[in-house]
Amino acid sequence: DSEHHIEHSNSVIKSTSKSSVLHRSLRSDPLRVVQASGNYIELSNGQRILDATGGAAVACLGHGNKRVKQAIVQQMNEVSYCHSLFFASSAAELLAEELISSTNGHMARAFIVSSGSEAMEAAMKLARQYYTELSPPQLQRTKFIARKESYHGTTLGALSMSGHVGRRALFEPTLLHNISRVAACNAYRGKRPDERDDQYVARLAQELDGEFRRVGPDTVCAFVAEPVVGAALGCVPPVPGYFAAMRAVCDKYGALLILDEVMCGMGRTGTLHAWQSPLIGVAPDIQTIGKGLGGGYTPVAGVLANHRVVDALRRNSGAFSHGQTYQGHPIACRAAFEVQRCIREDGLVANVGRMGALMERLLRERLEVHPHVGDIRGKGLFWGIEFVRDKRSKQPFDPKEGVAMSIHELGMQRPYNISLYPGSGSADGTSGDHILLAPAFNVSESDVELI
Ligand code: PLP
Repeated sequence: DSEHHIEHSNSVIKSTSKSSVLHRSLRSDPLRVVQASGNYIELSNGQRILDATGGAAVACLGHGNKRVKQAIVQQMNEVSYCHSLFFASSAAELLAEELISSTNGHMARAFIVSSGSEAMEAAMKLARQYYTELSPPQLQRTKFIARKESYHGTTLGALSMSGHVGRRALFEPTLLHNISRVAACNAYRGKRPDERDDQYVARLAQELDGEFRRVGPDTVCAFVAEPVVGAALGCVPPVPGYFAAMRAVCDKYGALLILDEVMCGMGRTGTLHAWQSPLIGVAPDIQTIGKGLGGGYTPVAGVLANHRVVDALRRNSGAFSHGQTYQGHPIACRAAFEVQRCIREDGLVANVGRMGALMERLLRERLEVHPHVGDIRGKGLFWGIEFVRDKRSKQPFDPKEGVAMSIHELGMQRPYNISLYPGSGSADGTSGDHILLAPAFNVSESDVELI
């Protein structure tokens, strides 16, 4: 259990049990994974774990997909790296084409990076640059309006955009200050008991409108939101009409709409892009994607920009003023392209709908009556279960009790052997502890039963 090795040709490279990795916890090392295949992960202690969350909504094809492996090897044989400042690779072109053609003509270009956080940084800079390219330029548009219950990444810009109190806590004084926030759409906690959906939407639209006016409508560059809130709340979809109303406020003040689909996109919620679902129903100006884009096979994420944005850059400076060493990395792009081809050719988005419906039925049948289950919500294969101390008052557990983490830890023990993604509630009581479920799109009925 304490010794680890990598097999390479005929030799075996051993590593000791003493970790040199700056792990999330420096007091205890995480469990070591020795093998992963399909929806199962094998640990060095011999346990076989059902991966009910695909990591963090990443492994949409499961682990060890042979087609993706072959594509990666083939790309290695062709070209493993070239710098995007001077060259284009077929792999990046193929992936961008696949992505753009999946948007029904809404999006014009794709920018490929290595992580969701980088995608958010690029999206923010693209939105800022858009206003400098207009004639006359609108240089005063430097502010963003995001949402209180949100997570957009870990780098300082993306973290500044995030409302996630826990993840911001240690870095507050240095975060960007041109970002303000409105409430997210969360029917379970935000909607009043006597309120209809349309009334709730009107109230949230009014709040956003008020925020534009408060900070100065012509200083706002974009409104930023996750179509289905991921890690910050645990799979919370909006109520019908919400995004149309938010878009109308953005249009009224000439601001862009940025949708962060890093977690909920690429098929996870039952349509390839979450905004293509009638529940969301509006196309963004800029969209970020990640996680399921490459299914965990390579670090890959991206930004999609619509014609409005791309045309403005093309007409004026002619370039996006942003670049990274590994942007459009050929191997990352080739793997993502193959993942997307598997999803398309194997009809996996339709399977997300079928397995998602089964998962919802079983979760409701078996958990809805539980005295500490406050809410079960989600979309596609993206489900959240929120726990409460008191069901009637919706009083959450104290985050210090670590309820979601305890459930995760229990799941990892025998005989359960299941990995569940825990999220803690916020100390101000606006959200409760939750478990997030996001299995692979090709999950079997029996594994949904088990989960
Ligand atoms: N945006 C959303 C909605 C996310 O859920 C995440 C990660 O969980 C990110 C952005 C950041 O992505 P990454 O962790 O790949 O940097």
